[in-house]
Amino acid sequence: MAKELACKKCKAITIGKVCPVCKSTELSSDWSGTIVIFDSKNSLVASTLQISTPHKYALKVT
Ligand SMILES: [Zn+2]
Repeated sequence: MAKELACKKCKAITIGKVCPVCKSTELSSDWSGTIVIFDSKNSLVASTLQISTPHKYALKVT
C-alpha cells in the first residue's frame, strides 16, 4: 500500500506524485490530521481553509 502524501501548497492528500488539486509536485510525507471536503461552496471549514476543490486534505503539513 502506497503511503499517502500531502501537498505542501494546498494540503490535498494524494497517493500519486503530483497533487490532484493544484498540480504541485511539492508533496510531504510528514503531515497530520485529515479533513474531507465534499461541498466546498457551502462549507465553512472549506472557506476558512481557503479550499475550493472537494477532496481529502491534511490539517497540518510540515
Ligand atoms: Zn496541491
